Amino acid sequence: AAQGIPAAAHLAATVAPQAIPAVAGAALRVPLVTGGTIGYANLDHAASAPCLEAVRTAVDEFLPWYASVHRGAGFASQVSTRLYERTRDTLRRFVGARRTDTVVFTRNTTDSFNLLARSLPRHTSVVVFDTEHHAALLPWQGPNVRRIPTPRTRLAAVSAVDEALAGCPQGPRLVVVTGASNVTGELLPVAEIAAVARKHGARVALDAAQLAPHRRISIKDLDVDYVALSGHKLYAPFGAGALIGRADWLRAARPYLAGGGATKLVTEDAVVWNTGPERHEAGSPNTVGVYALGVACETLAAGWDAVEAHEQALLTRLRKGLEGIPGCAELRLFDAPVDRVGTVSFVVDGFDPGWLAAVLSAEYGIGVRDGAFCAHVAAKRLIGVAGGEGQQAVRVSLGLGSTEEHVDRVVLALRQIVARGA
Ligand code: PLP
Repeated sequence: AAQGIPAAAHLAATVAPQAIPAVAGAALRVPLVTGGTIGYANLDHAASAPCLEAVRTAVDEFLPWYASVHRGAGFASQVSTRLYERTRDTLRRFVGARRTDTVVFTRNTTDSFNLLARSLPRHTSVVVFDTEHHAALLPWQGPNVRRIPTPRTRLAAVSAVDEALAGCPQGPRLVVVTGASNVTGELLPVAEIAAVARKHGARVALDAAQLAPHRRISIKDLDVDYVALSGHKLYAPFGAGALIGRADWLRAARPYLAGGGATKLVTEDAVVWNTGPERHEAGSPNTVGVYALGVACETLAAGWDAVEAHEQALLTRLRKGLEGIPGCAELRLFDAPVDRVGTVSFVVDGFDPGWLAAVLSAEYGIGVRDGAFCAHVAAKRLIGVAGGEGQQAVRVSLGLGSTEEHVDRVVLALRQIVARGA
């Protein structure tokens, strides 16, 4: 039925592997306090990434057609249902899921982990590094949760998980780990941690909020059990994310929300809940957001090599530039250099991070993030390790909207700000 609907074509959208997908907003101009306007340098991809042009086009074509899913005989409803359900397969492919894995659409990564937390069997022990983003740290509460400090080497990180699991009581176990730190961009040894988890009969939930926009992920290769991600970090608009993984705990859990769509049958005195992903998707879902997320995933998946090459070249340029700025110290989880995505946080001796970020915006048209990045333990500890003080830093995060000019501009701006003093 979806044939002939322009939007349907975009589910199979591809880009030439050599080209990085274009983002919307490349020509945005922002005002400067000094007068006039300048092209906006969005160096805050880790917070939310600008929409891909392919997503914008697809959504634009879909907007006249969207309708409530699963409930209507009308043509638009059928099309929307088809696209919504097909996006589950898109997501499954995007993360290299097992055939039996389920895909539950959520609002974002935070929502996905809260859903998983509510779906854990009773007395599940949870092991998590304390430097995780709050979305991956806070949903797990109670005496069975072990928050472990993140060691300074990847090897020690794997051993720390091993030890923590060895100390857990009998029963279900879950390790929660991020793929890439939202503070430092460093990659965690997920496959190694998963191997150790298996030894202890534990499952692994991967926080892919920061990894998925930059690297190909494979649930099967990493041998993890769950992946959580957010559309707005994957170059799609806000409001749609997913939890992908093993179906059994989710099927057995109380529905995340109670309401229409999650039920098979409701009588005067009983409810029969669905057992598929709809069990946790009560209410009219974000059809447009889910569709946009699917298009973004398809578009990215067609060009990983180009995406990675683009970002790594810019990352090298950025880090080299920052090294030359007096008093600038980068935050790092690990002592030795490790593979990383294009996110760099730093402090500059004698300069307040909030003030630095404000000046970069007002005088140079550069958008960066400052603060503790919803990872308060990580920020405080890593600033200390870097020889800085306080609990806040500046974060520059690269992505498909970033250019050499943006990187050079932020480096030059910091050099000028530091030279003239706080
Ligand atoms: N995990 C990491 C590593 C993140 O960087 C973020 C967002 O910054 C999240 C989880 C939470 O994502 P969301 O706010 O989309 O739920």
